[in-house]
Amino acid sequence: GDAQCKKIGEAIGLLAFQGEVVSCERYGNGHINDTFRLVCVDRGAIKPYIIQRINNEVFKDPVSLMKNISGVTSFLREAIIAQAGDPDRETLNIVKARDGKDYCQDSDGNYWRGYLFIEGATTYDKVRNPEDFYQSGRAFGRFLCRLGEYPAGKLTETILNFHNTPVRLQAFKEAVKADVCNRAHLVSKEINFVLDRESEADTAMKLLREGGLPLRVTHNDTKLNNIMIDDQTGEALCVIDLDTIMPGLSIFDFGDAIRFGANTAEEDDPDSSKASLSLELFEIYTKGYMEGCKEVLTAEERTMLPMGAKLMTYECGMRFLTDFLQGDTYFHTSRDNHNLDRARTQFALVADMEKKWVEMKEIINKYQ
Ligand code: ADP
Ligand code: MG
Ligand code: MG
Repeated sequence: GDAQCKKIGEAIGLLAFQGEVVSCERYGNGHINDTFRLVCVDRGAIKPYIIQRINNEVFKDPVSLMKNISGVTSFLREAIIAQAGDPDRETLNIVKARDGKDYCQDSDGNYWRGYLFIEGATTYDKVRNPEDFYQSGRAFGRFLCRLGEYPAGKLTETILNFHNTPVRLQAFKEAVKADVCNRAHLVSKEINFVLDRESEADTAMKLLREGGLPLRVTHNDTKLNNIMIDDQTGEALCVIDLDTIMPGLSIFDFGDAIRFGANTAEEDDPDSSKASLSLELFEIYTKGYMEGCKEVLTAEERTMLPMGAKLMTYECGMRFLTDFLQGDTYFHTSRDNHNLDRARTQFALVADMEKKWVEMKEIINKYQ
């Protein structure tokens, strides 16, 4: 917020931006960090930058977070150079602090970072047409591909057990048992929906433990507005917003993108009967994703992509229902039963995926 940003001038001085500052304005529609566009002029040349205050309410360990971003973006830069791409536009590039660190801290203790500003490209909040969803698939596929050899295990898990479905299930069961708001009797149908699928919750994590699925660098916030689309070519240029990169499974990123991008209803639609999987959108994303990374995905990963979509939707619904049972303390709600509506929408989507399972498998086969 504004109060936390009053020391931005101090932060600008600590980061190694080149030239004289000519302007600095709030920028973009991000909901997590405080983002500004900073323009400098260096010997007549205009140098645009991004400066961001890292939200350390959400991210408790900004130093490890920046270490993750620094490792991954340096690696991406090399991969892009090797492919004769443009390393200043196809990845984020950190502008270091003058003391050599990847971030700086103002005298209020806020953490700030600088990036080169990616010019001539735009982030979109809403899918304008199916092409956007396709480009998003390509971008996240290519991101995974370029990081195929990155030692994902070295990344800090900045949010512990983020997509550990069995751990989420355990928390859910405890919430049902505690029933602190006396709401469990209102949602026995939904509770049973979760419990009926309990045996599937560990499918992905079990494969990871047993070596069937490789540990990957995952992005964990695969929304459309976290990719930049080139204004000239209309193609996905760069994956941004790397705060949540963590070790994880490819099928989680794929699955979460499908969960929110290929649902025919809004995530919190009060009428859950509107929720269903758009096979058209599922196919479009799959096509883009496979173009981006099919050469690095293992056969097992490809086979498990539909399960990724189902697990992410199941897990997300379970988290909404957990929060409903606990009195709506985690997710922001703006009406009664908001979390319950969200949970119902997710479960309706899971049920629809189960109906369309064969078609989902066929689509994956078509693009591999
Ligand atoms: P948040 O976590 O708050 O969503 P983001 O890192 O996604 O923060 O940044 C918010 C917005 O700022 C992005 O959606 C994008 O429009 C813009 N942005 C971020 N980094 C850059 C960059 N390097 N170049 C140009 N625009 C950027
Ligand atoms: Mg963002
Ligand atoms: Mg973010």
